Amino acid sequence: MAINYMEKADEALLHVYNRFPVVLDHGEGVKLYDTEGKEYLDFAAGIAVCGLGYGNKKFGEALKAQIDKLTHTSNLFYNPVVAEAANALREVSQMDKVFFTNSGTEAIEGALKAARRYSYTKGTGRTGFIAMEHSFHGRSMGALSVTGTKSYRDPFEPLIPGVAFAKYNDLESVKALVDDNTCGIILEPIQGEGGIVPANKEFLEGVRTLCDEKDIVLIFDEIQCGMGRSGDYFAWQGYGVKPGIMTMAKAIGNGIPVGAFAVSEKMAKATLLPGDHGTTYGGNPLAAAAVLAVTEIFKEEDLLTHVKEMSEYLYEKLEKLTAEKEEILEHRGKGLMQGLLLKNPVGETVKRALANGLIVISAGQNVLRVVPPLVVTKEDIDRFVVLLDSSL
Ligand SMILES: *Cc1c(COP(=O)(O)O)cnc(C)c1O
Repeated sequence: MAINYMEKADEALLHVYNRFPVVLDHGEGVKLYDTEGKEYLDFAAGIAVCGLGYGNKKFGEALKAQIDKLTHTSNLFYNPVVAEAANALREVSQMDKVFFTNSGTEAIEGALKAARRYSYTKGTGRTGFIAMEHSFHGRSMGALSVTGTKSYRDPFEPLIPGVAFAKYNDLESVKALVDDNTCGIILEPIQGEGGIVPANKEFLEGVRTLCDEKDIVLIFDEIQCGMGRSGDYFAWQGYGVKPGIMTMAKAIGNGIPVGAFAVSEKMAKATLLPGDHGTTYGGNPLAAAAVLAVTEIFKEEDLLTHVKEMSEYLYEKLEKLTAEKEEILEHRGKGLMQGLLLKNPVGETVKRALANGLIVISAGQNVLRVVPPLVVTKEDIDRFVVLLDSSL
């Protein structure tokens, strides 16, 4: 049966992914099951998306109720759940205004446009961006233009001109690239695809000061590190360094395709106006119901406290494993976004883990990415360490 689905999928889908030979069927908590009934402990969460894990009752019921009511209205009309979700996101993000999108990439597109629009409003005519080496912001032409991996960009040049790449966590290298045309600086407070690298506090503070001095728009991409994963709702809150624009996606919808960008009060006054930007689906009632349910569940279950506790527990366990295993060169990360730098390419370890019933993914060539559902328990973490140990 599984073979049949694999063949069918490969026949029909454009081959841009090398999928694992597993056909996933359903999930419960932090467990996934394939069509053959094999159980997997999931420490990938659909690439840091399914923070609530699988089969969350309240989440499912909120979606089902909304499906029966109304799934789409277009943004030409008001809707109760959209209004509630926007305010919920505004509250947890501590930003001023929100724009819903269908994905992370689209949130980045919107953020870049909002930064450009700010320069346009101010009459400075600035168009350039500074992004970071090893960054990942998405695959559309705009998002790709600020993505640090050259091999991702090369086949699609020419991209947006005027993008320069600085070294992450190196303030001097950012300063060296700033010129009269710098409109915005974009970075992930914790780099994800680039290998799970948290920013240094001094670096973020330095970039913030630089942006204040030169009136440059600071954009934080919190698509992966946001919505609880760092132990705060958004990673910047833990650093105390607030961006002008922030992008979100992944965990805010727990698997329903939804993203958003949010702007500070100062930005809100001088950026996108009616007619400047839009989306047919973005933040439709179904997506909004997902966001609203996620924010409510976070509060009801005090999930941030849980993430802080579990991340400390996981950190200790991985520190111990790192000390024991020659294969692990370094352990790093923040919250439930941790990474293990391995001696050898991670692909083989990932495959062995899968055979052992553990789902983990890589971040780049040599980093094993540990991003479990946020509802993970100590027992899950213990089991994870045992399975990982035997997979290395
Ligand atoms: C996943 C990701 C994106 C792209 O989001 P999509 O939903 O895949 O479009 C952008 N930035 C970061 C940091 C990401 O992790």
